[in-house]
Amino acid sequence: MNASTRAPSPPAAAGPRTVLVTGGSRGIGAAAARGAARAGWDVAVNFTRDATAAEAVCADVRAAGRRAVALQADVGDEAQVLAMFARLDAEVAAARLAPLAGLVNNAGIVDLPARVDEMSAARIERMFRINVFGSMWCAREAIRRMSTKHGGAGGSIVNIGSAASRIGSPGQYVDYAASKGAIDVFTLGLGREVATEGVRVNAVRPGIIDTDIHASGGIPDRARQMAPAVPMQRAGSADEVAGAIVWLLSDEASYTTGSVVDVTGGR
Ligand code: NAP
Repeated sequence: MNASTRAPSPPAAAGPRTVLVTGGSRGIGAAAARGAARAGWDVAVNFTRDATAAEAVCADVRAAGRRAVALQADVGDEAQVLAMFARLDAEVAAARLAPLAGLVNNAGIVDLPARVDEMSAARIERMFRINVFGSMWCAREAIRRMSTKHGGAGGSIVNIGSAASRIGSPGQYVDYAASKGAIDVFTLGLGREVATEGVRVNAVRPGIIDTDIHASGGIPDRARQMAPAVPMQRAGSADEVAGAIVWLLSDEASYTTGSVVDVTGGR
């Protein structure tokens, strides 16, 4: 091997590893948790409301031969994020999970369709608190555990953005699109900031994916309605997004950082 092609920083540690998936109880997060387990990761499944759904994902992880723990926390509350990572540390110390080497910042919300001139301060604050601040707090805690600067063994962070950051979502949820624009820039900056510390940071930007999120945005049928606007003429599945997430987590993506992967059917 030529010296210039040798890895300049250590790859993520060999052996069992844990990935924390925020919002892992449903949709894209649940698919990522199951896909990561099939790829050999232990999984910490974060959720807010639905413990039964999170436990069902944990059962699937265990059926794939890996360990799993469900961790309840609202990622939009810094104190709850800190408590979640403390609980994760305790699970690792007790050998109920492998060391943390991955984070999927997936938890995210939309809101009902509205123009910006109709939006309350509370709505905009909640949007950014969960979608942006939550991702930044979780990434900070993961870096403190995974970066070689902090004595860690390296790792990979995958932020879930949205094609909305390219489209802007006028008349629907510009606040959401703006929050996902912040995720794009956070990914670029953090990826470059920790590039020599064994930690890669990338984003996946899904397009129209068939999950429950559209019902929470007041348009349960949105994935089907939007299909004609997609070059592939169909919505994507959570598993199709999970494929990109699991690849970015893996050592196969060892030279990829600060990047954004669109999973949009061409949109
Ligand atoms: P989803 O089906 O609505 O699932 C959301 C998940 O996030 C649930 O597991 C939920 O847990 C959790 N969650 C919500 N608020 C949370 C909070 N404050 N703290 C912790 N967990 C929280 O959503 P999805 O469609 O899979 O979306 C996942 C990500 O992909 C989001 O970031 C979203 O913006 C992004 N995305 C989705 C699409 C799409 O078309 N579906 C497109 C582009 C981007 P509980 O059920 O326990 O509350």
